[in-house]
Amino acid sequence: MRVGVPKEIKNHEYRVGLTPASVAELTAAGHSVLIETNAGIGIDFTDADYVAAGATIAPSAAAVFAGADMIVKVKEPQPQEIALLEPRHTLFTYLHLAADKAQAEGLMKSGATCIAYETVTSDARSLPLLKPMSEVAGRMSIQVGAHYLEKEQGGRGVLLGGVPGVAPARVAILGGGVAGINAAQIAVGQRADVTIYDINNDRLAELDLHFGSQIKTAYASKAAVAAAVARAHLVIGAVLVPGAAAPKLVTREMLKTMKRGSVLVDIAIDQGGCFETSHATTHADPVYEVDGIIHYCVANMPGAVARTSAFALNNATLPFVLKLANKGAEAAMRADRHLAAGLNVSAGKIRHAAVAEALELPF
Ligand code: NAD
Repeated sequence: MRVGVPKEIKNHEYRVGLTPASVAELTAAGHSVLIETNAGIGIDFTDADYVAAGATIAPSAAAVFAGADMIVKVKEPQPQEIALLEPRHTLFTYLHLAADKAQAEGLMKSGATCIAYETVTSDARSLPLLKPMSEVAGRMSIQVGAHYLEKEQGGRGVLLGGVPGVAPARVAILGGGVAGINAAQIAVGQRADVTIYDINNDRLAELDLHFGSQIKTAYASKAAVAAAVARAHLVIGAVLVPGAAAPKLVTREMLKTMKRGSVLVDIAIDQGGCFETSHATTHADPVYEVDGIIHYCVANMPGAVARTSAFALNNATLPFVLKLANKGAEAAMRADRHLAAGLNVSAGKIRHAAVAEALELPF
């Protein structure tokens, strides 16, 4: 198959659909790969790296779309990219259509087969192409939290791990899923005093077994969360209720009980945030203060570590890219129900029940 990768054009997006190593896997399997010039330059994948992996360099996105049957990207297609899609194309990328009717209508009009990373499933009943980004965001949350606890950043002036004779910082992690466990791993590595709060008792038991005495776990009752927030130096919001807005676990009232210069990192901001006082921020201006408490609410945290994120995403997407290239979209989806769960749009129709329902479009 002819596989094409355009340069990402969304603001501050440096990731790229295929790494040179992924391209090498595709070309070794007999496929041709067309990469837009400088598609990976933001994370130091040069055109020469791609040529060495067997790709051909195209001068423009238009040339990539014209010369490829499958387009592999990272972010949802922008209007000028949608305009280049044709019925013969398969598009494989994050789409997040449920909140984006204009994009959905554009993709329907294109006639292309559009498979969304975020709805591909797995036997473990997880979303394997979302997981790597939650891993990145979870690990990063402790790094940014530690940074903003520094005095110069407006924080309380507390070192996460303490030192001999001085107690470590208290870290409360709300939600012990993929992001939460990854946050805990880094916080434990830094020797912080870590407690994970969740409402899923089975999950709490798994975390207890996994970390042993390195962390504490607690059921996330309203009272427990209120007490945690009052004690913590760093609170990580990592809850998810699939398909719904994040529950507001920390109210504005609760901020008054917190220590000045404490830090809230709301990873769940892409689902509306789990602190009442959260609003989405960007990497250009990531934090703001409410009642003396620093809020970090960047909705695309993985973008800050675009090189790590591009590798992590490719590790998860490559097996599916290979299936799509080897068999063609239709046969690949017939053979793999988890890949088929990724189908959002084809032949002008919405093909995913939840997306159709959210957009109030026929399914
Ligand atoms: P997950 O499903 O693996 O884990 C969520 C956990 O939250 C589950 O263990 C669940 O039991 C728990 N939970 C649900 N309601 C709760 C409540 N009221 N109190 C306590 N715990 C509760 O999800 P995940 O993959 O870890 O994702 C977490 C969030 O991070 C999601 O909103 C996701 O969209 C977001 N995310 C954000 C970024 C970013 O850049 N900001 C990047 C990746 C993921």
